[in-house]
Amino acid sequence: MKLWNHYHTPHSIDQAIALLNQYQGKAKVVAGGTDLIVELREGHHPIQEALIDVTQIPELTRLTTNNNEIYVGAGVTHSQIVKSAVLVARATCLVESCGVVGGPQVRNVGTLGGNVAHALPAGDGTTSLVALDAKAEIIMSGQRRVVPIAEMFRGPGQSLIDSTRDVIIGFRFVLCSDNEATAFKRIMRPQGVALPILGCAIWVRLNPAQTHFEAARVSIAPIGPTPGRAAEVEAILIGQPATDTIIEQAIETALQILKPRTSKYRATGDYRKEMIAVLLRRTLQLAVQRARTGQAVPEGIGME
Ligand SMILES: Cc1cc2nc3c(=O)[nH]c(=O)nc-3n(C[C@H](O)[C@H](O)[C@H](O)COP(=O)(O)OP(=O)(O)OC[C@H]3O[C@@H](n4cnc5c(N)ncnc54)[C@H](O)[C@@H]3O)c2cc1C
Repeated sequence: MKLWNHYHTPHSIDQAIALLNQYQGKAKVVAGGTDLIVELREGHHPIQEALIDVTQIPELTRLTTNNNEIYVGAGVTHSQIVKSAVLVARATCLVESCGVVGGPQVRNVGTLGGNVAHALPAGDGTTSLVALDAKAEIIMSGQRRVVPIAEMFRGPGQSLIDSTRDVIIGFRFVLCSDNEATAFKRIMRPQGVALPILGCAIWVRLNPAQTHFEAARVSIAPIGPTPGRAAEVEAILIGQPATDTIIEQAIETALQILKPRTSKYRATGDYRKEMIAVLLRRTLQLAVQRARTGQAVPEGIGME
């Protein structure tokens, strides 16, 4: 069955926006197609008058560093992220999360922008972008805007942008420096497809003596209808000794505050809650160890 009538491959953002305007809501942006084509086949969207493929636009496929900041185009694939030496060393959580998305075929074409635009509460790339406090660059209603990643989401499957009109261009965030590190871990059903039972991404900064948490960002998903940070858990860590005792206190707080829901495809809320303790402990300990040693070897990539 025909799922779209026309397929366009613009080479600039202006061309992409002009095409979207031309089709007046009857065309949709496509990148790797690993979410969209499945959904079109399953009839979740009407047959599209056109698909606008954004993977040939240079600004969306760039991955560039400028001092301590990195720009990752929305059309950069999960495989490209895994192969980026600078991300491996200085944004390890993103490499770890993109490295477990689907299998190699999915990672070779699926993009970070598609992961965010799809707006599921537990998209793996998204979970790490939240811990990295990334900013999304978007064209929305014809205007270029910069939006903190946590403000990109409206509900399950609903983001700030409407991909019949708007385009995510890319993401910017600050790379880890001395005494800073990140880690990501997730729990997935053995034959699970698409989304984890639970994912956890952490960013920490230790003080120069490496004894205390100077700052921390904790992203656990799925907890609510949208991705976001666990501010109460972060507050337990900040300014405190970077020890197992404080990590256990952070876990206690997480268990009191976070209320994961039951999903009929993935796990019960109770199981997810138990796994919060397991994941938070392992991910925090790993991030602290990396911040202390300055060494980060991504774990778990392509293991599932
Ligand atoms: C077998 C399988 C396994 C998977 N496993 C995982 C997994 O483990 N973890 C996980 O998180 N996801 C998983 N996914 C989901 C999917 O692969 C990822 O979400 C991927 O990152 C989507 O990117 P894409 O480029 O393929 O998006 P597409 O399918 O091209 O697009 C997805 C949505 O985003 C919109 N869109 C895409 N790019 C842009 C843009 N630049 N601007 C505006 N709108 C845009 C599209 O219009 C569409 O609505 C899996 C999918 C499959 C089929």
